[in-house]
Amino acid sequence: MDKKSAPNLPTHADQTMLKSFFGCRRKFYWWYLRRVDFKITPPYFIWGQAWQEMLCFWYSKTELDLEERLSGAISLGEKLWNDSGTLPMGYNNLDTLRWAMIFYAANFPEEPWEIITLDEKVELGFEIPFPPRPIWSICGAIDGYIDWGPFGLLVLENKSAGIDVQSAKYLLQWSFDLQPMTYTWALRQILEQDPFGTYMNCVCKKITQKNIKEFQEAHIIPHAMFARKDIQKSSFHYREFEQSVNDCLIQIEVEWDLWHWPKTYNTIECTGGIGKSACPYQRLCLQERNPWEITDEEVEMIPGLVVKRDKWEPWKRGGKS
Ligand code: SF4
Repeated sequence: MDKKSAPNLPTHADQTMLKSFFGCRRKFYWWYLRRVDFKITPPYFIWGQAWQEMLCFWYSKTELDLEERLSGAISLGEKLWNDSGTLPMGYNNLDTLRWAMIFYAANFPEEPWEIITLDEKVELGFEIPFPPRPIWSICGAIDGYIDWGPFGLLVLENKSAGIDVQSAKYLLQWSFDLQPMTYTWALRQILEQDPFGTYMNCVCKKITQKNIKEFQEAHIIPHAMFARKDIQKSSFHYREFEQSVNDCLIQIEVEWDLWHWPKTYNTIECTGGIGKSACPYQRLCLQERNPWEITDEEVEMIPGLVVKRDKWEPWKRGGKS
């Protein structure tokens, strides 16, 4: 697909799109312009999606008793997992999903905060104009938001990882990450008031048979299973965020005009590393051809890849603002 036959310049940006452009412009091309995706969604994505849906159920069905909330959340997770057709890999399996929910319910039967629902939905989709670059909107879906008396409102961000979620390094990354920043900025625009920041709600997927046995025998919740951290944001952060997004959108527009979509030389982006999965486009990028010379049919000859035909509209996931 060359520039002439390309769709129009995208006009919606979410935090994954911005991150992908910062990480590798070629990846941005494959994903956002060509819509090349995994044929079968990898289990770590499904685990995270199912976990989010289970927590939505857990927090929105407060009229049920704890047993019913737990069994309902697990049933929902099982259905999502089974319907996805994904295959288990390491700690990304249905058993760890079920047990994570059991441990979560035992560890957090009550919260010091209240979750806000909109039309019974915990997630909040948004599509917000971005005045510094008027053709663009910033969009996405917030996992939820909470009202925590002494602090005020916070974005709730649910994360799952196969590593120690209580480590200082794991938790510190969220103070630098674009996702909590984007969501707090979005909630501020939607509510027209200053939220306190983002509340990171993290779960570790590394559940062993020993953990399960200890819980069954003595009700012991695995050590370092959960971590929570609030990340405060200020007017300074919002200004800084808008400047960075503006810069990134300008660069996307420039890249669109140049039509180069260069590869990154940061090899971690390609091969993956601790806590980062490998790029699905490796085989496309190793070809001695420009990406726009590779047809959709040729892309789909690579095992595991498909060209998606549906529109990219992540903001339609939750109750839309
Ligand atoms: S394989 Fe590397 S260069 Fe190619 S799209 Fe992925 S990150 Fe970019």
